[in-house]
Amino acid sequence: MSKSSAKEWDRAAPSTSWTRLACIIPPDLLAAVAREADADQREALLETMQLDQSFRVSRAEAAASIIAPTRTGVARVGAGTPDRAIYDQQHSNATTPGTLMRSEGQGPVSDVSVNQAYDNFGYTYKLYWDQFHRDSIDDQGMQIQGLVHFGTNYDNAFWDGAGHMFFGDGDGQMLTDTTKGIDVVGHELTHGVTQHEANLRYSGQSGALNESVSDVFGSLVKQYQLGQDAATADWLIGADIVGPQLAPALRSMKAPGTANQYDNQPSTMDGYVHTTSDNGGVHTNSGIPNHAFYLIATAIGGNAWEAAGQIWYDTLADPRLHPTATFSRFAGLTLRSARTRFGSSSSEAAAVKSGWEAVKVKVR
Ligand SMILES: [Zn+2]
Repeated sequence: MSKSSAKEWDRAAPSTSWTRLACIIPPDLLAAVAREADADQREALLETMQLDQSFRVSRAEAAASIIAPTRTGVARVGAGTPDRAIYDQQHSNATTPGTLMRSEGQGPVSDVSVNQAYDNFGYTYKLYWDQFHRDSIDDQGMQIQGLVHFGTNYDNAFWDGAGHMFFGDGDGQMLTDTTKGIDVVGHELTHGVTQHEANLRYSGQSGALNESVSDVFGSLVKQYQLGQDAATADWLIGADIVGPQLAPALRSMKAPGTANQYDNQPSTMDGYVHTTSDNGGVHTNSGIPNHAFYLIATAIGGNAWEAAGQIWYDTLADPRLHPTATFSRFAGLTLRSARTRFGSSSSEAAAVKSGWEAVKVKVR
């Protein structure tokens, strides 16, 4: 590939825009793959980057308002059951729902992507309801809409901040059908939960925390559905949606920086990346809190969604967690959550403290 077209990829990959639009694939990874892509793949990657960019511009303003929790304290009729609707975008770039293919309570249809999106929405709802008694993204039973077959060979999936999750089919080399990723769906829907709770600003350390919280609960949705305890889980993100170029996964919470040939995530503060790309490296530095969670969950033992997941959920819902929280502040609040729920001298609290110390984050 020529130098001039490499620059074209860089221009198509915006680096500094602040937005709530939350993709599973960051712009700098798309650009890195595009630099080495063959002619067939280039078109799909360029279209993906251009679409992502147009979404950032058109959606950022609409989604930028802070959504405060609006709990009424009264359970919804039907709480405990999700409200799902899956639409077929038929490879268009339309940003409004296309043809309704399956709504809540209806049986499987012939389109595998529709069914996978429906099921993975259900598994995500189930973890939040069973473990934390949370009724959907807003805790008010909000409908979750899935828009599948978005774009042509679109290499991404994202939550738009307004109730819709968009799924690309992938180009087959970098990504495959993104509806298949249970942890990817859990990750994206958790961006909605975060938006309604701590509203962590999508930039720098608070942005990396926003990303990490999505990886944590995305992985927990998968572990809960598979019935895997902390010792058995693979702690990978996106293993079910990557093509050969990104195999075996997008990210690893167990061993950040080892998930694929492009993975540059640090696992401790020694490797913290200072960059203007990807909103200050939000998909890179998330490796640090991701690894802390892995260390804490495996030190506590048993099912990660029980003690460690509860501590993280309590922290996310803690009014003391502000939108611009640093890693240290978040770590301090997880320790408070652990002490409140399990006791000051509990093994859970000790594991939280040691986990953050191991990744060299000061617990404040
Ligand atoms: Zn994300």
